[in-house]
Amino acid sequence: MSTVVDQTIETYGIENWGADYFGVNRKGNLIVRAPENDTLTADLKEIVDDLSKRGISSPVLLRFPQLLFGQIRKLQTAFRKSIKEFEYEGGHLCVFPMKVNSNRAVIEEYLREGTRYNFGLEAGSKAELYAALGVDQAKDSLLVLNGFKDRDFIKLAFAGAAAGKNVVIVIEKMSELDHTLDLAIESQANNPTTPLPMLGVRVKLYSKGSGKWEKSGGEAAKFGLTTTEILEVIRRLQEAGRTDMLRLLHFHIGSQLTDIKRIKNAMKEAARTYAKIHKMGIPIDYLDVGGGMAVDYDGSRTSFESSANYNAREFANDVIYVIKTICDDETVPHPTIIQESGRFLSAYHAILVTNIQDEIETVVEHHDTEMSLSPDDPPIVHELHDLRETINAKNYREYYHDALENRDDLFSMFNLGLISLEAKGKGEVLFWDICEEADKYAQLKKYVSEEFDDLRRLMCVKYLANFSVFRSMPDNWALEQLFPIVPIHKLNKKPTEYATLCDITCDSDGIVDKFVDLHDVKPVLELHKLDKKEPYYLAMMLVGAYQEVMGNNHNLFGVPHEAHIFIGEDGYIIKKVIHGATLGDAVNSVRFDTAQLHDTYRRAVLARVKSGELSSNEGSQLIEYYEDQVDSYTYLTPNGK
Ligand SMILES: *Cc1c(COP(=O)(O)O)cnc(C)c1O
Repeated sequence: MSTVVDQTIETYGIENWGADYFGVNRKGNLIVRAPENDTLTADLKEIVDDLSKRGISSPVLLRFPQLLFGQIRKLQTAFRKSIKEFEYEGGHLCVFPMKVNSNRAVIEEYLREGTRYNFGLEAGSKAELYAALGVDQAKDSLLVLNGFKDRDFIKLAFAGAAAGKNVVIVIEKMSELDHTLDLAIESQANNPTTPLPMLGVRVKLYSKGSGKWEKSGGEAAKFGLTTTEILEVIRRLQEAGRTDMLRLLHFHIGSQLTDIKRIKNAMKEAARTYAKIHKMGIPIDYLDVGGGMAVDYDGSRTSFESSANYNAREFANDVIYVIKTICDDETVPHPTIIQESGRFLSAYHAILVTNIQDEIETVVEHHDTEMSLSPDDPPIVHELHDLRETINAKNYREYYHDALENRDDLFSMFNLGLISLEAKGKGEVLFWDICEEADKYAQLKKYVSEEFDDLRRLMCVKYLANFSVFRSMPDNWALEQLFPIVPIHKLNKKPTEYATLCDITCDSDGIVDKFVDLHDVKPVLELHKLDKKEPYYLAMMLVGAYQEVMGNNHNLFGVPHEAHIFIGEDGYIIKKVIHGATLGDAVNSVRFDTAQLHDTYRRAVLARVKSGELSSNEGSQLIEYYEDQVDSYTYLTPNGK
């Protein structure tokens, strides 16, 4: 007999997408397990209650650095084992792409663990490079620079190399090579012992990735050099007598690569290119396979967009095996493999917890009394009534279509002044009754057609979640990417409601109505009935990659509160709390000046005091109240606070 907890674990798919990091305890609360010892757990509900007592209300982003460490070790172990199994003679290093999550806490925690394996950083802009140069990295780790670069960017790279960092400038365009060679000559003239950056080239592969980021690869990709351009780079380096600088071949065919076959094809093409360059007498020794290792957000282990049909070990095996085979075939030494995995490393560590503020009614419900029809009601209302009385499992589809048509007629007639407000009201109630019945019959079917999926979304309850999709889950809005969503408590009670989520922005796109499911995508999420007496909290899981940096300012909802949690022998320890954006921060971000706002408001109030419409006491209270708002949180205050 499975318990209710087992059933809810299945409903939410926790064991499918959770990578063993998440579970449910006896209290029915969602827990996070320490990867190094899964008997150590942290209870999310306890953490949220604790934070709430300290004045940190939801939404709050919880960071678990141990999960970042867990992913680093998973990746490192996978490659270490594959290297051993296939007797691969090169090494494996990782560089974390800062664009995936450039928060200081993430970078510092990543380096703390990654340094043990000589894992370094990848920067794609001057700002990222500027940050990277100011943090300590392992002596033998790399700092790889991708993206388009101007002379200033490259000069900053030289400053990094001069400070002793192993900087690799990956050439994406010919002009970058010109600047690099110029600056190399300059640097050598000033001081011939100053170390120079290394060079890499990004190759434009014929092979493409799969999934939403397919465009990052293939011949028409934005980045990378064609074969003739790479040969031109080599020719120019030979001319300058600087072929010693070219050390790395890079490719990246996209993020969230769902299909391992595509990865293998790209790997073959890149390894062959690497071998040929090596054979031209270039001392190249790094093969950078880019990022793209996918996160199985829905837990289906398929090549579906939000999933992946491979795990870390299978990925490592394929990479190592393909590169080894090709290099052996070409008789060139095995390169050190560089990986730029961002999503895979950082997705799991961050969880956004938010409260359900309220429920939004969209369906017209009956009022207490049973509706009575009178002979005076227009025929259209009688028709709807007949449909409602006779709908059944056989005719529900047809009757539902009829009801849709009748409803359109109802509105047209009302607009033409042909029917009364009362008749319109009756018609609406009957229409929704029919929908409810049709939904019930449709859901009994094995395969629910899309039309009834849509109806389900329309019919279901809508929970108002205290967060902004645009700020905290932008890929859900922009790319329809799925994130697992789970209540953090009550998991020992069966969820009885079917709900979609609305966020608190004024944007009709600010909704979540697609949910992870093992076989498909769910149009609604099973949730518990709201209880006015206690808050109901949901966790948006696996939001540690891209969401924070891509999140935007829509409606001026700022960054949420943040807490860093350590899981230890005695449960959890809240290591650090960072307050979220205040109203002042939010308006400053769009260049308002709070002093000026206060000034203008004060003048308006004082004018009313002067004209005798407000007492001076009321005036000062208003001013004080307004000015105090500068420090308040941009999100809703949970009910009962
Ligand atoms: C975005 C990006 C990555 C990171 O990809 P993930 O899918 O997050 O691992 C790596 N390398 C380059 C060049 C990128 O642009």
